[in-house]
Amino acid sequence: MAKVDPWEMTQVKDYAKLVRDFGIRGFEDFQRRFEYLRYVRRGIIFGQRDFNLIVDAIDHGRPYAMMTGLMPSGCFHLGHKMVADEIIWFQGLGAQTYICAADVESYLMRDVQFDEAWETAIQDYLANYFALGLKKDNLHFWFQSDYVNPYYRLRDMASKRVTFNELKAIYGDLSPSKITSALTQVADILHPQLPEFGGPKPTVVPVGADQDPHIRLTRDIASRLNAKRGSRRDMRCVAPSATYHKFMSGLTGDKMSSSDPKTHISLTEQPKKAAKKVLSAKTGGRETVQLQRKKGGEPDKCVIYELYLYHLIDDEAELSRIYHECRSGKLLCGQDKKDCARLVERFLSKHQGNLEKARSRARKFIKKV
Ligand code: SF4
Repeated sequence: MAKVDPWEMTQVKDYAKLVRDFGIRGFEDFQRRFEYLRYVRRGIIFGQRDFNLIVDAIDHGRPYAMMTGLMPSGCFHLGHKMVADEIIWFQGLGAQTYICAADVESYLMRDVQFDEAWETAIQDYLANYFALGLKKDNLHFWFQSDYVNPYYRLRDMASKRVTFNELKAIYGDLSPSKITSALTQVADILHPQLPEFGGPKPTVVPVGADQDPHIRLTRDIASRLNAKRGSRRDMRCVAPSATYHKFMSGLTGDKMSSSDPKTHISLTEQPKKAAKKVLSAKTGGRETVQLQRKKGGEPDKCVIYELYLYHLIDDEAELSRIYHECRSGKLLCGQDKKDCARLVERFLSKHQGNLEKARSRARKFIKKV
């Protein structure tokens, strides 16, 4: 069975195996309906749990929520942009939008001090979300360390609905920090269904495959909260739905990491510097030009192609041209990397033009919450 650790996982090699091992369902049934979203059309969002509940709520105009979290450590890079795009997609579909700054988790698991985490969450993450198109209407944003009482009470109630051995089976090695982080995430995901937030409703959590342990734990606890009734503090809730996306590779071909600038392009980095990094990214090219002309390149193993696929090229015909010209040996890496670098530079310049205003909006918004 594949090992999935939300704090340690490096790269997933076999998404189909992950789907089989953990009972995640494919996204095919919803592909056509949402194919206007690049991540759906290209199979980057590959799995789901109970996504039919969300579609049903959309179709019948019933309330539903989207909840996601950000880890305020390191910089906001293209991997994070994918999550931001998904948040904005759900907000556009009418979801009550819940975004958590996981400052307790970053303190416990990555030793980030709270004031630093707050600064990063507001200046880097929330500001970038706004610059990418997030609206403040219908938006709930909170810090795990500074929220309302019912949220903390829910975390305490959750701790009574799971055993130590069950946590071990889900997460492997445990520590007090991991247990607190996991139970806090349960409260993050379920609290939009508390009476104070409008009561039970379907809630979708868009996640990378590595976060599935949190989804499984929360679904188990949700069913137990429903079963165990009698106290006025008990709650009814709908087990959360989830969508699962694949990970982008880092520029080096390994995992993309916030703490290693060689592996990522940050949305705040100097556009020319980012373009330079693209020129030295790992490609699927052959050892020599002659060999590439003869055998063609391997776009499926190429970071440059991934940048197009996830972020830079929306037009299917253009993407297909690059793919086929690469495979046939007509397109060579040197030229293609330059083209890609230009697109990155253009994207970052435009995005950063929106960022200053977005930063002041983020500050004002936080003052209000
Ligand atoms: S030609 Fe482009 S897509 Fe093909 S391997 Fe080289 S960089 Fe990648």
